[in-house]
Amino acid sequence: MTYAPPLQALLHTMRVVGGMDDATLYPALADGAAEAILEEAGKFAAERIAPLNAVGDKVGAKVKDGVVTTPPGWKEAYRDWSDAGWNALAAPEAFGGQGLPTILSVACAELWNSGSVAFALCPLLTAGAIEALTVHGSPELQARYLPNLVSGRWTGTMNLTEPQAGSDLAALTSKAERAGDGSYRIRGTKIYITYGEHDCAENIIHLVLARLPDAPPGTRGISLFLVPKILPDGSRNDLRCHSIEHKLGIHGSPTCTMIFGDAGGATGWLIGEENRGLNCMFTMMNNARLMVAVQGVAVAERATQRAIHYASERRQGRAPGVKEGMSPIIQHPDVKRMLLEMRAKTAAARALCMATAAALDGAAVEEKTAGAPTLAFNRASLLTPLAKAYATDISVEVASIGIQVHGGMGFVEETGAAQHYRDARILPIYEGTNGIQAIDLVGRKLGLEDGHCVETELERCADQALKARQSSDKGLAHSSVALEAGVAALRSCVSYFTTLNNPASSLILAGATPFLRLFACVSAGAYLVEMALAATGTPLQEPMIADCRFFLENEVAKAAALAPTIIESADLVLTADLAAA
Ligand SMILES: Cc1cc2nc3c(=O)[nH]c(=O)nc-3n(C[C@H](O)[C@H](O)[C@H](O)COP(=O)(O)OP(=O)(O)OC[C@H]3O[C@@H](n4cnc5c(N)ncnc54)[C@H](O)[C@@H]3O)c2cc1C
Repeated sequence: MTYAPPLQALLHTMRVVGGMDDATLYPALADGAAEAILEEAGKFAAERIAPLNAVGDKVGAKVKDGVVTTPPGWKEAYRDWSDAGWNALAAPEAFGGQGLPTILSVACAELWNSGSVAFALCPLLTAGAIEALTVHGSPELQARYLPNLVSGRWTGTMNLTEPQAGSDLAALTSKAERAGDGSYRIRGTKIYITYGEHDCAENIIHLVLARLPDAPPGTRGISLFLVPKILPDGSRNDLRCHSIEHKLGIHGSPTCTMIFGDAGGATGWLIGEENRGLNCMFTMMNNARLMVAVQGVAVAERATQRAIHYASERRQGRAPGVKEGMSPIIQHPDVKRMLLEMRAKTAAARALCMATAAALDGAAVEEKTAGAPTLAFNRASLLTPLAKAYATDISVEVASIGIQVHGGMGFVEETGAAQHYRDARILPIYEGTNGIQAIDLVGRKLGLEDGHCVETELERCADQALKARQSSDKGLAHSSVALEAGVAALRSCVSYFTTLNNPASSLILAGATPFLRLFACVSAGAYLVEMALAATGTPLQEPMIADCRFFLENEVAKAAALAPTIIESADLVLTADLAAA
């Protein structure tokens, strides 16, 4: 089944949620520029990347003697994609990039990832390396590495994880020693390194976290190094891919165990200051987490399209009111409900991602004038865990419903529905597990600006509930009750957490994940109201109202019911003796 880029839905979300029509914020997207770019990106995603998804899954990446081969067609598609300039879209103009805003790169990233998550992961990691170098790299490192990373001729990786250091980076033990000539020698083993080795680019630029001999323990003693596969003199650096993982999904993406320095030490250069490596990582975190959230939207969109297509063709039983013959299953109310749930959750997740992107764009503009983190940056920081956890959680849910819509054909592999489910399953795990996102939300984000940041968001949601209530659309007005209840439930949880006055309290941590779900549903529900109202009189009106009503009356209503659990049931979690079971 071919993939149809959802350009109208994307543009509507960019306009209403992202504020794309604000020419002062987005001069580069005016006069049809965004539409033209998305049109071209959609073509590339549908015609060149999407057809590779199944072969990537079946053949997968292979390793032999440390040499990794990507699936058939991968290399050529990557070359044409980067030659067309897509890798440079959001990169800084000073190094050959186009400097376009995050809302546009988010929209394009959805298209690439709907084509194939396993393919699009490579540029996602390169973008992280570009950002780290742009913000923290020395002028020499920037001049030597950024132009080829921006063009896509070279790719980038992030080397954080070690066997004993996953969520807890304080435990990492890779070592770095000063070589005396300004460079460092890096030794250690990193696991799960995405595109750590492959055949799509001439050079791979690894960003590696390691400790200096005199570094303090814990997270304050971690430094970030640039360690290229090929050194500036053309020789091979002392690093290699030991093996690649056999995994549930994203088979086309090589997940490598990387050995650094077992023949004396890999040569690397410091990025930022010694012992401040984690701070460098933190500056990139909002963007990288947002891009993983976008992967969730992308898989959900593709799974939804596939399910709608299948349900329109598959005939079984007779739908209510039909007199003879078998009906396409899309006419059965229960199948319609499943499809609507898929579409509504996807639209909600897309809205959260676009809101986060717009906040990052706002922060970039404000930072130029203010020179310091700003209100928009804080808003992006609040929205990031919501977008990352919600969009990736629903990608698994949506892909699972997609299988259900296909019946037995969903469980067997031919239709492709099963691949979406398998591919989606990594998204709630990497780039900070969703449990860690929830802890970040309650631990660091609720207190931003002394709670003012959350209060502003609550007010926005209450305002949209009021607008829905006052709408001339009776259905939407009816749904407003669910959003009002959601806002009230969220407010009561925030007040409860504030009363406890200790983000590390077990009472808060036990309820962090359901709290995040409630927050994300209310926030996304309010955006869906805004999008539905803005679609009045356009062809998008009917689907936007249907998505919005379904989401408020089902997802927000369910989420609001979580408040008593969050407030009153922590002791149940805390006292359960699971190890004894
Ligand atoms: C396919 C794939 C690609 C990857 N790509 C990369 C990459 O390119 N670069 C890289 O560096 N890493 C990469 N990773 C690693 C990934 O980021 C980690 O797997 C992830 O951070 C989780 O770490 P872990 O697997 O050690 O799980 P653990 O940290 O052991 O977590 C296990 C469970 O415990 C929970 N948990 C852990 N600590 C806490 C806590 N303090 N409070 C509450 N709950 C907690 C987690 O939420 C999770 O549910 C990749 C992993 C995979 C599978």
